[in-house]
Amino acid sequence: MIMSRDNVDPAEVAKFDALASRWWDPNGEFRALHEINPLRLDWIRQHVPLSGTTVVDIGCGGGILAESMATAGATVTGIDMAEGPLAVARLHQHESEAKVTYRQATAEELAAEDAESFDVVTCLEMLEHVPDPSQVVKSCAELLKPGGHVFFSTINRNPKSFAFAIVGAEYILKLLPAGTHEYEKFIRPSELESWARHAGLSLKDSIGMHYNPFNKEYSLGRNLDVNYLMYFQRD
Ligand code: SAH
Repeated sequence: MIMSRDNVDPAEVAKFDALASRWWDPNGEFRALHEINPLRLDWIRQHVPLSGTTVVDIGCGGGILAESMATAGATVTGIDMAEGPLAVARLHQHESEAKVTYRQATAEELAAEDAESFDVVTCLEMLEHVPDPSQVVKSCAELLKPGGHVFFSTINRNPKSFAFAIVGAEYILKLLPAGTHEYEKFIRPSELESWARHAGLSLKDSIGMHYNPFNKEYSLGRNLDVNYLMYFQRD
């Protein structure tokens, strides 16, 4: 097999490796992922009832989303390039009894092996950590059966998202470790939609995700200015 691992930023993967043991601490560095998970899982399930489907979660990390989709009745494969989070994910499923198959691979590698194999692909909070996100979008499309469903989430790129997602979230409110995100890697919804369209995907829905610093709660809403999710279907 040709190893297509060019589209991996080793510094990004090292960041997640270093924090791996903290993944399931609900008050630790990944607290935000724990808090947003019920919201994003609900939104996915509103579009695709997961029960009985095959799902691959790209950039699964310690498995917060992957486990919750398995508990919802999907047969889930989780892939990531960081070994530490994958090891934590494998251990955690013994505690939670969620069954997920984890492996170290890129979306590009899996697409070369298992094209048109999955009903659903999820790729959340991952695209802004890779050198060429359009290539990941293309691989996600290839992994889908015709008519299959794919969900992406990432962060918009504009002055407001810089203020909220970097200055606010990392330095003022400290919702995320400083250095988690780089502004230049943020992705506008129009860019994501265009990459997806060129990969044979049609946009079905999108939604914003907001943090309210006063009641400390996340919610979904129409505004895509900062964090957002997009749902596409393969043609
Ligand atoms: N999707 C998970 C974790 C998001 S953190 C969630 O939302 O809960 C981003 C994850 O992407 C990290 O675990 C990191 O190791 C992984 N990642 C970064 N670059 C990657 C690549 N090129 N291929 C696969 N995974 C990657």
